[in-house]
Amino acid sequence: MKLGRAALEEKPTLVVIDASRELYWRASEVFPGYHLKDSDNMVTLIQSGCDLNTPLPTKGGHPLKMDLLLPPLPNPPRNIMCVGKNYVSHAEEFSKSGFDASSAAETAIPEHPIIFTKPRTSISGPFDDIPMWAGLDGAIDYEAELGVVIGKAGRFVSREEALDHIFGFVVLNDVTARDLQKEHKQWYLGKGIDGFCPMGPWISTRADVHLATAKIESKVNGELRQQSTLAQMIFDIPCLIETISRSMALCVGDIIATGTPEGVGIGFNPPKFLRNGDVVECTVEGIGSIVNRVKSRLLEQEEDLALQQSNTR
Ligand code: MG
Repeated sequence: MKLGRAALEEKPTLVVIDASRELYWRASEVFPGYHLKDSDNMVTLIQSGCDLNTPLPTKGGHPLKMDLLLPPLPNPPRNIMCVGKNYVSHAEEFSKSGFDASSAAETAIPEHPIIFTKPRTSISGPFDDIPMWAGLDGAIDYEAELGVVIGKAGRFVSREEALDHIFGFVVLNDVTARDLQKEHKQWYLGKGIDGFCPMGPWISTRADVHLATAKIESKVNGELRQQSTLAQMIFDIPCLIETISRSMALCVGDIIATGTPEGVGIGFNPPKFLRNGDVVECTVEGIGSIVNRVKSRLLEQEEDLALQQSNTR
């Protein structure tokens, strides 16, 4: 099942999307008797324990327009938890790139999961622009990732129990300003920029994603850059859940970004950073794709200024 949020009559609304990805129903049309206290709050829906095996109605579906989709979970209970260097080939390209100024730089392949966070204010929609803010636009890079959405709270979750704590999965792009990542010797400032975590296009529930075989990839302007499978993770999802929940209780609605495979911009020589107008598409098999155009905010500011000036002439 695919659960998302869409702007319907300009109001954010929870929706359920069918397997063909062409039709949607309002969540309240799919889960009868379920009255949403807060009509666009995905965490409330997850907590309701609604039956994810509920068949979709045979009639009454509405045509889905992708550009109406909003981030499916814009307000997780805290920062998005992220994993650094979690695919062997990416760990090697990152260490060689000269941009890894973290304390983990000496060893390409980590012995334990590297966990950092992105603020939830970085979340944006599945088809939103990636903003190039003035002064932060010199070394912007993409990272296609699988995001895990937690559906059941818990502390000290074992590997064996871990999958039971997952509600579903999203595609996300861990957009990164590599120069900030290097200069500040940590990952928060360069990855926490407003609009640097496009996410969606919806949450695919567990049954839709085959972790042992699903492909993950990214394209920039149609050129294939990253292509791998989720099975190539160094630390698999049960390990990540076990590791994080050893330190803190998992909350319903937590998001774990599980790392990115080889082929990011700094993996090339010279690096292929994103430029104004570039279109980045990130895809995970069983979920779908998010597509985001890089857009200079500086240009927008200049256009606004020019418009103001022409209006005053
Ligand atoms: Mg990442």
